[in-house]
Amino acid sequence: MSRFRAYVFAAVLLGLGTVSSCAEPAPDATVEVDSPRGEPTQFEFTEVMPGIYQARGAGDMTVGANAGVVINETDVLLVDSHISPAAASALLEDVRTITDKPVRYVANTHWHFDHAHGNQVYPPDVEIISHEATRSVIANGGSKSGRSYEAFIGTLPDRIAALEATIAESEGDEQAERETQLERLRAYHAQVEEVVPTPPTTTLSERLTLHRGGREIQFLFFGRAHTEGDVVVYLPGDGVLLTGDMLTAGLPYMGDGFVDEWVDTLEQLKHLDFQWIIPGHGEPYQDRQRIDHLQAYLRDLWDQAVALHRQGVGAEEAAATIDMSAHAEHFGGIPGAGVNPVAVVRIFELLDRRAN
Ligand SMILES: [Zn+2]
Repeated sequence: MSRFRAYVFAAVLLGLGTVSSCAEPAPDATVEVDSPRGEPTQFEFTEVMPGIYQARGAGDMTVGANAGVVINETDVLLVDSHISPAAASALLEDVRTITDKPVRYVANTHWHFDHAHGNQVYPPDVEIISHEATRSVIANGGSKSGRSYEAFIGTLPDRIAALEATIAESEGDEQAERETQLERLRAYHAQVEEVVPTPPTTTLSERLTLHRGGREIQFLFFGRAHTEGDVVVYLPGDGVLLTGDMLTAGLPYMGDGFVDEWVDTLEQLKHLDFQWIIPGHGEPYQDRQRIDHLQAYLRDLWDQAVALHRQGVGAEEAAATIDMSAHAEHFGGIPGAGVNPVAVVRIFELLDRRAN
């Protein structure tokens, strides 16, 4: 962090009324941040409607998911807090390039580590809003354990070791490129090691509404989908819906999903009036038919998995057998049979649970 950036960052925290720990020496409190300034270093911002942005990682740092930035009359709401305290702090810094208003609210659309493991950087007077199930999972350590965490984060040491081995065997440009990759992966590993899962401070069971200046902000739970506590953030006056991973630009991860219920939950989104979707991963889009496409995919996947489960086929074999290529037009890269085994393991787990 350069000295200039440290000043801006400290001012962000001062703007929030509380100074929390900062790696740089504390600057004096007279630093002025009168207007947005500078260029973002880790994110690119896409403004879909006035004052409503998607922040996507665009720098060296691994940030995980997208975030939403909603600039209200006197304050800011951030939707999702990224994968590490470093990533969350980087967003706070980069947000200063588009507004000088203080961040007062953060939403966790769900408990996945890439959406909620930056929570710890926010001072106590920032409200972190989620579904009650999301809070419960984070409070009980579920965001830092389990199948998904182990698959993505638990494998980091092995991935680093594997990369180190390939560097020793390579040379020239290839070696230099891998060394850069290694540096990034090591930094990412160090950053996720700093995570202290921090539960949201405000929860809802079905809905919660904020009125900020002239803007209405609805936090809505329509049922289980990508996880047990998916909340969408709906801005009715702006026509924008922030969906977390209930909808992504491509196929969402299904390892903790409720694949059949997800279809019904998506159906509820169709009652809302909006022009823009800001998804948890991938670019913002306007095509509402993508909801139908995901529903069709989930239904087909579920039905094929149920049939194989009934025949007593194991999850691995079922994953190799299931053919989703009929959906290739809407979800590129489906050349033939075979799906991510994690999705099938998850569906079989749900089926076994219900049978018992
Ligand atoms: Zn997720």
